[in-house]
Amino acid sequence: MDGVTSTVPDPPADPRSLSPRLPSPLQEVEDEPFARRGVRLLLKRDDLIHPDLPGNKWRKLEPNLTAAAAAGERTLLTFGGAYSNHLRATAAAGRLLGFATIGVVRGDELAGAPLNPSLARCAADGMRLHFLDRARYRRQTDPDVLAALHERFGAFRVLPEGGSNALAARGCTELGRELRGAAGTVAVACGTGGTLAGLAAGLGPDQRALGVPVLKGGSPHFLHGAVEELQRAAFGGRRGHWRLDDRFHCGGYARRTAELDAFADAFERRHGLPLERVYVAKLLYGLSTLVEEGAFPPGSTVAAVVTGTP
Ligand SMILES: *Cc1c(COP(=O)(O)O)cnc(C)c1O
Repeated sequence: MDGVTSTVPDPPADPRSLSPRLPSPLQEVEDEPFARRGVRLLLKRDDLIHPDLPGNKWRKLEPNLTAAAAAGERTLLTFGGAYSNHLRATAAAGRLLGFATIGVVRGDELAGAPLNPSLARCAADGMRLHFLDRARYRRQTDPDVLAALHERFGAFRVLPEGGSNALAARGCTELGRELRGAAGTVAVACGTGGTLAGLAAGLGPDQRALGVPVLKGGSPHFLHGAVEELQRAAFGGRRGHWRLDDRFHCGGYARRTAELDAFADAFERRHGLPLERVYVAKLLYGLSTLVEEGAFPPGSTVAAVVTGTP
């Protein structure tokens, strides 16, 4: 066409054009602590769904990206910490599909400092980074905070921290449906709880979902209310059988202990599978502790969702 129309950017592409590997593979692993108790361990390899949008990030972003494209929205703004996998995935989705992306990062002390490797990847993918002080970051859903962001960046669709909204939870029901009939218990590591909310809703009535929070939450864990709220927003009420086991955060988000590191190193050596350390290592550490406590009867099957890549 002529020069005028060619300045109009192409509409964003459909996320399904990225050929995700779905349903993701389900693999049995022979792991001694489980075998000793007569329990089968399956790994749901969501980490293999897409190299740039792995794991639950694909499942949560895909419906949001589709809705944004359908609504003619070309810019996404979202929130995350300086090492957020969600910010990285959103930036990659922007590059691959043709959305402009803005990442609002927790902590204005980071502004002007050299970017860490995670944020450098976001920037290389074209994400505009905006550093917000912690007080305002906590109030990210308040109208005055959003109004200030609109003033600065114009029109955008907001994805909440971690990408967990009703659409994201509905996207994760597919994870549950893919696991129907495969295991009595399906376990997943939790940050914001969107993945657990959808997973539990998609499982069959005889299956149990178990969430392992990686953040320290106090008692009762704030995540419990967050998952209930997400299920109410996505499905109209509580769905499926799910619970949290809050004993395996190892001190909090991205914290580690010598015991966790030793467990993860040994698991990697036994199976030749590098583990994502913030979430997946804590999940498997929690499950191996539970199996040693006799939490799963002999003859039962446990599936662990591998939600991301190292
Ligand atoms: C983001 C992330 C999670 C947390 O998912 P939520 O839906 O926020 O609970 C779990 N595992 C990995 C690898 C992640 O990147």
